[in-house]
Amino acid sequence: MQRASDGAPSRALVWIVDDSPLETELAATALSLRFDVETFQDGHSALERLASRRAPDTLVLDWLLPDISGVDVCRFLRSNAATTTLPVLVLSVRRDPADVLEGLSAGADDYLSKPFDPAELLARVSVLVRARQHLDRAERAERALRSLLEHLPDVVLALDDRRRVTFINSEADRLLGLARSAIVGRVVTDLLPDLSLDSPATGDALPDLRWRGRVFAPFVRPLPAQSLATTVLVLRDVTRDRVSAEVARLADQRKDEFLAMLGHELRNPLAAIVSASELLTRLPGDEAATTHARQILGRQTALMARLIDDLLDVSRITQGKIELRREPFDLRTAVARALETMHPTLVSRRHHVESRVSDEPLPVFGDPTRVEQVVMNLLHNAAKYTPPGGRIRVTTAREGHEAVLRVRDNGVGIPPEALSQIFDLFTQVETSLARTQGGLGIGLTLVRSLVAMHGGSIEAHSEGPDKGSEFDVRLPLSDLGSDPPAPRPKAPTPRTPPLPGSFRVLVVDDNEDIAEAMAMALSAAGYEVSLAFDGIQALEVAARETPQVVILDLGLPGIDGFEVARRLRADARTAEAMLVALSGYGQASDRARSREAGVDEHLVKPVDFSVLLNLLALRRDALDP
Ligand code: ADP
Repeated sequence: MQRASDGAPSRALVWIVDDSPLETELAATALSLRFDVETFQDGHSALERLASRRAPDTLVLDWLLPDISGVDVCRFLRSNAATTTLPVLVLSVRRDPADVLEGLSAGADDYLSKPFDPAELLARVSVLVRARQHLDRAERAERALRSLLEHLPDVVLALDDRRRVTFINSEADRLLGLARSAIVGRVVTDLLPDLSLDSPATGDALPDLRWRGRVFAPFVRPLPAQSLATTVLVLRDVTRDRVSAEVARLADQRKDEFLAMLGHELRNPLAAIVSASELLTRLPGDEAATTHARQILGRQTALMARLIDDLLDVSRITQGKIELRREPFDLRTAVARALETMHPTLVSRRHHVESRVSDEPLPVFGDPTRVEQVVMNLLHNAAKYTPPGGRIRVTTAREGHEAVLRVRDNGVGIPPEALSQIFDLFTQVETSLARTQGGLGIGLTLVRSLVAMHGGSIEAHSEGPDKGSEFDVRLPLSDLGSDPPAPRPKAPTPRTPPLPGSFRVLVVDDNEDIAEAMAMALSAAGYEVSLAFDGIQALEVAARETPQVVILDLGLPGIDGFEVARRLRADARTAEAMLVALSGYGQASDRARSREAGVDEHLVKPVDFSVLLNLLALRRDALDP
């Protein structure tokens, strides 16, 4: 229903087209009781008006007009989209049934003969106007519904009882890449052969449909009887969901594999450690057996420490917690150091190592320890993935503005399809637990991250299985000068131990094994050592023993190491003690936090024992020169 601008429903509009003024007057008077009325004396002026004005809700049309026949007016109205449903009531003086039939078949909706009863005219026009208003409402509702369907983000299809498509919304075009005209009327399973409408459905969901690189989740629902279609089928584009679910599943699977591998990798050295310690207890006097057991312990704990270091490094790198300590250095020096460190491993597998060193200096501005770690990792892999007696070639060269390091081996090689993945976390070409070479699949991830942090790149090459592998690292050359860098200061060698009893050290660590091992080592070096395993105990022992040095683990239960440090500083008896913190974290912010708590030295675990002994010796000398 139309509404006037003041919000009240406006009256319907009726046109009267009649050349007889008298009858026009009669009709207009009757109709204006309920409707707005406009009158026209000939057909043309009415039709012209139609082009510029809103069409009436009903037209009262004299069948015999001076200019144009009623039949033509009706035909024109019916052929015009805007007026095709406009109700028309014909007025005619003739009562011939053939005329009535002609009018009705030309598109008229009702017929009244002249002279007419105005009350009857009003009643009949009212019926037509009401029908027109119902039709309008139905059309508006259908438009709204259609627009809703068109704007749904899914493909919506209506199917008849033979599964022919009777409707499809415009998403068909966007998501399926099919024109609507190519779909309507076709049997849906002919169009989409992979659609399995007959599979057992869970609820109304069917198995995924793969179509032109996308994945759709189909949903079907039967429509109630008397609907225009029997079934509605919705195809929801779930490509992104399915891809992320698959990524998550693979990540989960890799995590499980990794945990299995981690358990395996840690159990091996542990088994050796357990046997070696048994050996030590059972054969305390046997010098050769003890030495052997000690060597096993040393090797296996170093192996475990390396695994754990790699794990921690990877997690710190992924959290962006690693900072490079940059300085100018020569890549050739880092490579020489790494070769030296890896020498025992390379020798133990009887590899022939050839080192081709650049004649030119290769100045790099970066963290030499981390670059050494990169080279060591690559050498370690070359040694591991090459059968004993292999050839490993290490080359350094200057290429353009880059320093290049190549580590080439003639070992097991890498299948082409694995080349792009080996740098990903936890990725290993051979992941069976039975493989002979250890490792967790994190070495190359670390290497790539460290190289990237230096602004460099790494590539792996291999011609395939058993054809050997080559890893090329490229680092930007630094223009800070190509002078060979000054050698890094070596850790000073431990000083002579103090006289027993002259110097008191308190070791605080909640891991009793670590605390006791350190106490034993410090006692062996001549210090008088006491122990505490938590913060409160540390404060009690410190107040009683007044140690000159407190070695303090920061992660303690109850009150943590920072708080212990603050309280020791606040207590006159311990305020002067030297506080050495041991922490798993060594970033500038961690050190600052220690300093604020009153710590003198912040050492990162695992602690280099010679560094600790030197600190103690310096302190002892300072107190007792
Ligand atoms: P890990 O050696 O602990 O398995 P890495 O991240 O160092 O982990 O290496 C990932 C994978 O890349 C290895 O498992 C191995 O399959 C492959 N790979 C690495 N270096 C070599 C190499 N020099 N020759 C053959 N394969 C290698």
